[in-house]
Amino acid sequence: MTIDMHCHLFVEEFHNDNYVYAFWNPGQQKSLGLEEAIAISKERNALRPSPWDPDGTINIKRMDEAGIEKAVILHLDYGIIFGEAALTIEQQNKYVSEIVKRFPDRLLWFCGIDPRRPEAAGLFEKCVTQWGARGIKLYPTTGFLAADREAYPLYERASAWGIPVYFHMGPENPPYRNEGNAHPSTLLRVLVDFPDLKVIVAHLGFDFWRDLLALGKVCENVMCDFCAWQRVAKRNYEQFSRILRRFIDEFGRERIFFGTDAPFVEDFVSSKEWVELVRDLPNQAPSPNRFTPEEISALMEGNAKRLLATAPKI
Ligand SMILES: [Zn+2]
Repeated sequence: MTIDMHCHLFVEEFHNDNYVYAFWNPGQQKSLGLEEAIAISKERNALRPSPWDPDGTINIKRMDEAGIEKAVILHLDYGIIFGEAALTIEQQNKYVSEIVKRFPDRLLWFCGIDPRRPEAAGLFEKCVTQWGARGIKLYPTTGFLAADREAYPLYERASAWGIPVYFHMGPENPPYRNEGNAHPSTLLRVLVDFPDLKVIVAHLGFDFWRDLLALGKVCENVMCDFCAWQRVAKRNYEQFSRILRRFIDEFGRERIFFGTDAPFVEDFVSSKEWVELVRDLPNQAPSPNRFTPEEISALMEGNAKRLLATAPKI
């Protein structure tokens, strides 16, 4: 069995026209104003196929093709950085919950709410207690820091309910904010203040992966996923194997999840290919980066199963 801990549902009504994909190109982010950044990003986005999936069926098809039995949809709140969308943030979260309800054996979901919204804590409560959200996804590069006090009411609730807070971590170009917003060290304060909070860091923190390794050594309540490393894995298999091996050795294999970040990376490396690539590591990884089938099975299934087996204590 494979569990995808990290994917998204893209619905047109969730997005303002200003919306652009996040990306990271070192050195390209200097001195870009918001408008210029959006214009450049839009040009780049024009090359991409539209991933709209209003009823979730494209996602289910993708899962079937890849042999993914369950997936966790992480909702994203872009309203404050790009402007509000056709659906309010409450409507968007409810919408995702309704799609998930239609595929109860296949899908779970984490709500997405910007902690700067005055209604954030109340909406979080509604998402978990009424609409079945299993955690919350936060996206600091939309303009806040994980340790901002505005986010604390969310952590208090997540900690009390025993459910995870999922953070995007890793540098991104403008118009996304990158003044340390997505650096793993910003989580240290949160992890110390909420020693029981389950924190998941997405993407191994991308280029900040070394810092995430360091954070993992000092905080036991932090977990991570390695989604959106598909391109690295394809281009430089040795590098991918080496970094994943270090995470298993130094972070601990019980704290690492498999994810796809679909539909973001799908047009470069399909979920099917990605699942196969990771499952093949015990046979294919170049020496000395050896993997056992037990390790891979923990990443692909066991760890997520254990995490998701506990329902929120509400
Ligand atoms: Zn993502």
